[in-house]
Amino acid sequence: MRNNDLSRPFKSLTMFHFFPDKLNLYGDRGNALCLAKRCDWRGIHLVIKEIRRMDECSLEEMDLFLIGGGSDREQALVTRELKKMKDGLKEKIENGVPGLMICGGYQFLGNQYIDSVGNEMEGLGILDFYTVAKYPRLVGNALIRSPLFGEIVGFENHAGRTYHGYPTLGKVEKGFGNNEVDKEEGLFYKNIIGTYLHGPILPKNPTIADYLIQKALEYRYGAEPTLDWMVPLDDHLEYLAMKQVWEQVQGSKLI
Ligand code: GLN
Repeated sequence: MRNNDLSRPFKSLTMFHFFPDKLNLYGDRGNALCLAKRCDWRGIHLVIKEIRRMDECSLEEMDLFLIGGGSDREQALVTRELKKMKDGLKEKIENGVPGLMICGGYQFLGNQYIDSVGNEMEGLGILDFYTVAKYPRLVGNALIRSPLFGEIVGFENHAGRTYHGYPTLGKVEKGFGNNEVDKEEGLFYKNIIGTYLHGPILPKNPTIADYLIQKALEYRYGAEPTLDWMVPLDDHLEYLAMKQVWEQVQGSKLI
């Protein structure tokens, strides 16, 4: 048990986890567990709603969201359902709701995903970019240097190459990221993060997890009272795990 002062007033957040049964590659579900645990350690109750059908949910109550990665087949299966929330989600994103969208989930944000045989799958079109799949797949451990989060480690496995002019999560030190040319990984827009990194990404990169939690608190309760709730946690094990991966993949000490 870490910091958990239960004498403070109760705070609760609601996270929507979209299609956890279909979009859950390479441990993406671990991101939900990590967020719940880090909230719990601070005495914040994170309610996780697993969303499989749009008519079962009201975006009104959503303070944070998660969309994992999936194969092209799975992406195609959920596209029609996801499109039903396009306008509502766009409005919430513009108003600052935080979210994490991974690989296939990240590709949904854009206008279009063109698979490796040329089939076009419409994206949500919330942001203006596209993804085109090609061989070879971009597979392996990835190391990223981010101006906001520092060193990030993860695992990528995608055929899609994403091209956009939005701010990114960071620079690719090892691996591929958005495509094999730009040396940039992911996307940052308002408070949402799109990334190609699985792993899952959050347990080994807790500063990203805390960013999402803090923004969710701000979204629900306003900026003022929020900082008191972001009690620093003892992250030495998480940092050790990140450092170990970094040094193994890089083959040299992390400085
Ligand atoms: N289908 C997508 C691609 O191969 C996404 C894969 C994933 O989510 N890992 O690019």
